[in-house]
Amino acid sequence: MVGESAIGVRGLVKRYGAVEAVRGIDLEVARGEVFALLGPNGAGKTTTVEILEGYRPRTGGEVEVLGVDPGLGGRAWRSRIGIVLQSGETTRELTVRDTLRLWAAYYPAPRAVTDVIDLVGLGEKADARIGRLSGGQRRRVEVGMALIGNPELVFLDEPTTGFDPEARRQFWGVIGGLRDLGTTVFLTTHYMDEAQALADRVAIVKDGQVVAEGPPGELGPGRDQAAVITFVLPDGSQASDLPAGLGGETAVNGRRVTLRSERPTAALGELAVWAARHGGELAQLTVSRPSLEDVYLELTGAP
Ligand code: ATP
Repeated sequence: MVGESAIGVRGLVKRYGAVEAVRGIDLEVARGEVFALLGPNGAGKTTTVEILEGYRPRTGGEVEVLGVDPGLGGRAWRSRIGIVLQSGETTRELTVRDTLRLWAAYYPAPRAVTDVIDLVGLGEKADARIGRLSGGQRRRVEVGMALIGNPELVFLDEPTTGFDPEARRQFWGVIGGLRDLGTTVFLTTHYMDEAQALADRVAIVKDGQVVAEGPPGELGPGRDQAAVITFVLPDGSQASDLPAGLGGETAVNGRRVTLRSERPTAALGELAVWAARHGGELAQLTVSRPSLEDVYLELTGAP
C-alpha cells in the first residue's frame, strides 16, 4: 500500500461486542484529494474516521495514513495531521487569536496565526472571546485549530453541522483554499450538496460497507444515461392515461409526475406525442440528471 496515497484501507473491520460497525471497508485517498465519506446515521463513518485518526483500535484489516499505521503513529506522525473534534475543546475565556497561538505551540512548524484566522474567515473576530462567538464561528475556530499545525492531511467529521447557509458557503471556500494549498481533506457529511461541491471523490457507506465510490458527478449505476423528467399532468388527464411504454419508474404526487428513465430521449418522444393529444404542452416540464442525493437515497434506502 505504500506509495502516493495519503490514506490506504484494506478490509477494515471494527466490532463493538456483537455489533459489527465496519464490515470490510476498502478506501484509497490520493494526496491532495478532497474525499467525502457519506452514509446514514450509524453507517460506520465516525468509527472509520476515528480509526484513521489513531483514536480507536480496529478489529481487523490494514490501514495506512501518511505511510504509517495509525495504531502505531507517534507524535511526529500526529503533527502532520489536523483533526476537528466533534465536541469542541475550546476555552470560553480565551480569544480566537490566543486559542490558535496556544495550539500552535504544540506543533514543530505551525502556520502563522493570522494566516489561519484569515483562512477560516474570522478576521473580524480575532480578538473576541470564544464564549461570545456563535456556534458556527466557534466551529470555524475548531477548524482553525486543525489547520494551525500546517497539516498534510485534515479530517473533518461533519464540519458544517449547525452552520447557517452563508457560513456553510464560506466554509466551502476554506476547503477550496486547502485544496489550493495541496492539503488532503477527508470529510464526512450528511449534506449531499456539500459533497457535490467539495469532493473530488466520495464513498457511500451503508451498514459498515462501501456501496458506491467515485466522483460525485458520476456515482450510481447507469447515471450517465439516466434522467429525471418531471411535469404537471394536463387538465382533464390522469396519471393512468400516460402511455404504457414510457419505461423507467413513474411516481405521482398530486398532479406532478416524476419519471426516472434510462432512455429519456425515447420517453420524451412518447410523452410529446401523448401531450399533443392533451393540449400540446406539459406544464413545468424539467429534464435533469439524477442528483447525488437521488443516487444516495437509492443506494442507502431501506432494502
Ligand atoms: P452518524 O452519521 O450518526 O454520526 P456514523 O456513520 O458515524 O453515524 P458510527 O458512529 O461509526 O456511525 O456508528 C456505527 C455503529 O457502531 C452504530 O451502530 C453505533 O451504534 C455503533 N457504535 C459506535 N460507537 C460505539 C461504541 N463505542 N460502542 C458500541 N457501539 C458503538
